[in-house]
Amino acid sequence: MTTNPTQHPTAVPGQAAPAGPRGALRSLAERVSGRLLTPADPEWAAAVVPWRVNVAQRPVAVLETHDAHDVVAAVRWAAHHEVPVTTQTTGHGATHVDGVSPADGALVVRCTGLTEIEVDLERRTAWVGAGVRAGQLLAALDGTGVTFLCGSNPSPSVVGMTVTGGLTWFGRAYGVGADSIRTVELVDGLGRLRRIGPDEAERFWAVRGAGGDFGVITRVELALHPAPQVHGGRMVWPVERLAEVLAAFRAVTATAPRELTVWLQVQHFPDVPFLPEEIRGKSFAAVAYTFLGAEVTALMRMAPLAGVAGRLTDTSGPVAIGALGDVAAEPVDPTPAMEYAQLLSTIDDTTADALVEQVGTRGACPITIVQVRHLGGALREGGTSAFGTIEEEYLLQGIGIPAVPAVVPAIEGAFVGLDSAAATVGTGRAPLAFLGETPTARWWSPETRARLVAAKQDLDPLGVIRSNRPVAG
Ligand SMILES: Cc1cc2nc3c(=O)[nH]c(=O)nc-3n(C[C@H](O)[C@H](O)[C@H](O)COP(=O)(O)OP(=O)(O)OC[C@H]3O[C@@H](n4cnc5c(N)ncnc54)[C@H](O)[C@@H]3O)c2cc1C
Repeated sequence: MTTNPTQHPTAVPGQAAPAGPRGALRSLAERVSGRLLTPADPEWAAAVVPWRVNVAQRPVAVLETHDAHDVVAAVRWAAHHEVPVTTQTTGHGATHVDGVSPADGALVVRCTGLTEIEVDLERRTAWVGAGVRAGQLLAALDGTGVTFLCGSNPSPSVVGMTVTGGLTWFGRAYGVGADSIRTVELVDGLGRLRRIGPDEAERFWAVRGAGGDFGVITRVELALHPAPQVHGGRMVWPVERLAEVLAAFRAVTATAPRELTVWLQVQHFPDVPFLPEEIRGKSFAAVAYTFLGAEVTALMRMAPLAGVAGRLTDTSGPVAIGALGDVAAEPVDPTPAMEYAQLLSTIDDTTADALVEQVGTRGACPITIVQVRHLGGALREGGTSAFGTIEEEYLLQGIGIPAVPAVVPAIEGAFVGLDSAAATVGTGRAPLAFLGETPTARWWSPETRARLVAAKQDLDPLGVIRSNRPVAG
């Protein structure tokens, strides 16, 4: 932890002199209403495991907060005892930074009890607590005709997903998730609960879209967006059809209106006993899509894909807001995960052929999910948060599931294969939430980083807060 001697943590009000580690943790336990887990607890081994179960973490304690007062008490305690604080709601974004986990030696704050969802349909806004997962907010909005900007998976926290950018089903129509944040309530690095809105322009810019390096967010106010009618679903073919599916995907996305979002998926399931028979040892090409509007228009737009022969399943139909998290059929349970991502300016014939060669053969690819997301539309505009905008047309992603460590080199090798497939169209950039273990320089420009570092100095002068995306690099 970086500390500034002129602003030593003992300046934090309401704290006694530092005690030894055990006494110190006891003093924290006395100040909070939530559950404080320490290595002495029988549940400790399970408590430290994040959603990405292959990321080993060695925190000093885990606090499951009951309310915002707990967060204030925790950060003040941590500043006083010179213990870093890292926020981890689900561990969906858990990763190593320079080979170590940000949770190592830190107090992990899980905003578990902050489950408020307060929807104002008239103003089309919602206050959402930091413990709320995407699927829970979707369920609360079901039947209202409005949605929040939700991604492919129902299990990340709304706050974690949105403050790291938020690339969602409706980004082409409504922009990145971070731009939809109206107000942020955050406990800063000195333990002060602040409400940050547009009147604090530089802070407001920084705390939306650059991750969680500035404090612990307790809740956010989000703009909701019209979605009176959503049509969508998932079409699946055997992977041998990938070349045709990719050609149709390129044709559909070349002229897609902003209301239509289509993501191409290639899935390779290992031949392991715990997978259901229908997918075990099999490989598929698929597209998942959503359309904000009438079914007839969606079907017309999707016709080139629907025309690809050999389809195994097709779930196309009306999509309830509460079911949006299921459209992409992603894994929701904790899993080991390794990640690849690169933004592509386009997909030309050479790139399409190379992708089919790299990932289109049954049983030959160790990456479980390869995804190509169509971007564009409103993602090129707005940019009022530190996330900025995305100029590129597509995002190429890979998720490897290293069920045993022995497969790690094969997955790494396959990621190199994705790099070479994307060689002529890849820009080398990757959005913040999808960086995996690669450096943040792939997303933040030096100018953006300098502004973020200044905001960090302002909100967390003692360097108490640690995140999976440290702005100092
Ligand atoms: C299968 C899968 C699918 C995904 N799909 C999408 C998608 O469609 N679109 C998209 O944009 N992203 C997507 N992501 C990325 C995911 O949204 C980010 O990793 C997000 O940061 C996860 O947030 P979390 O709170 O659930 O995870 P955590 O690991 O708990 O948190 C991740 C980071 O977010 C910050 N953070 C979380 N909570 C707070 C808080 N209360 N205060 C301050 N900082 C906080 C912290 O810096 C923390 O290190 C996906 C990830 C996975 C694994």
